[in-house]
Amino acid sequence: MHYIVMDLEWNQPVSFQSSAYKQVGDKLLFEIIQIGAVKLDKRFRIVGETDILISPAYYKRLHPYVRRMTKLTPEDLAGQPGFPDAIQQFMKFCGKDAVICTWGADDVSVLKQNADCFAFEGKLPDAYNIQRYFAEVFNLGNSQRALKSAMEQLGIAEEEDRDFHHALHDAYYTALVLKKLPDPKRILDYGQEPRKLGHTASRRRFRITHTVPTVAAGLRHKDVVQPACPACKKPAVLTTEMIPQSPGRYIALCKCKTHGQFLVKLRFAQLKGKDKGMNLSVSPASRQTRAYVHTKELQHQYRRKSGYVFPDPEDLSQVCTSNMPFDDK
Ligand SMILES: [Zn+2]
Repeated sequence: MHYIVMDLEWNQPVSFQSSAYKQVGDKLLFEIIQIGAVKLDKRFRIVGETDILISPAYYKRLHPYVRRMTKLTPEDLAGQPGFPDAIQQFMKFCGKDAVICTWGADDVSVLKQNADCFAFEGKLPDAYNIQRYFAEVFNLGNSQRALKSAMEQLGIAEEEDRDFHHALHDAYYTALVLKKLPDPKRILDYGQEPRKLGHTASRRRFRITHTVPTVAAGLRHKDVVQPACPACKKPAVLTTEMIPQSPGRYIALCKCKTHGQFLVKLRFAQLKGKDKGMNLSVSPASRQTRAYVHTKELQHQYRRKSGYVFPDPEDLSQVCTSNMPFDDK
């Protein structure tokens, strides 16, 4: 049997108002543009690698964030095979007796959604989650580590000619992590079903964590400006501004030096009398969530530049449902 350590890069809609998104957004939130994989034999020796670039069929404009992260350009993708051919090529690389291993659950979920959207008829290999095995080895509970931080923990150095956010390089590093874990074969205890990607309405009840006189005061609150990392409780640093989503709802990303990136969610509700109730939550941010927040930040900046008239932030009389594209839990 072969272990295929896989990593993907994907594009996302530049705008949730775009015609491509309106056409396929419920079936395809992220469109794969690169499949990188390293093949390990049963003794976890590297016996092959592949790097497949894919020309997107729907989200043809590369999102600036994706472009910045992956350093891929439209020219790199022009003339490359489409997903249906690329997945055949990837299946051929995997061979008959293979399992897929990934860092986290995102990549298998995105792979499955792309396979379904493009009506791939074959059967994808079973998938296993190295991040969960790593978390168990180091007793991390549910707090997940970024690949880079896992490498540091295991003393694996970044190689000069292998930048991160390149599907093959990330797959290669992930393979090194797997090889270094105490008993790599145990990865087979960490099966990972693809998650369903989609817009999910938040059904969480509103719990007041702070009472503030105004929304503006809430946004300036020190717990918001310097959110505590849920893992170590030390102050994390905001890496985006607080982005308004709808009246009384804001999102942002923050970063703890040790524990990586988190999603900051802020909600306000009008209390009886003048005060406002505020709910602050800080939770691990998956790659999808991070990409989503970056899209929202760009949209917000664009609106501000174009003279858009924002609704009064202090007016909380409107009720809205949230729609994060990815259910993080
Ligand atoms: Zn921390």
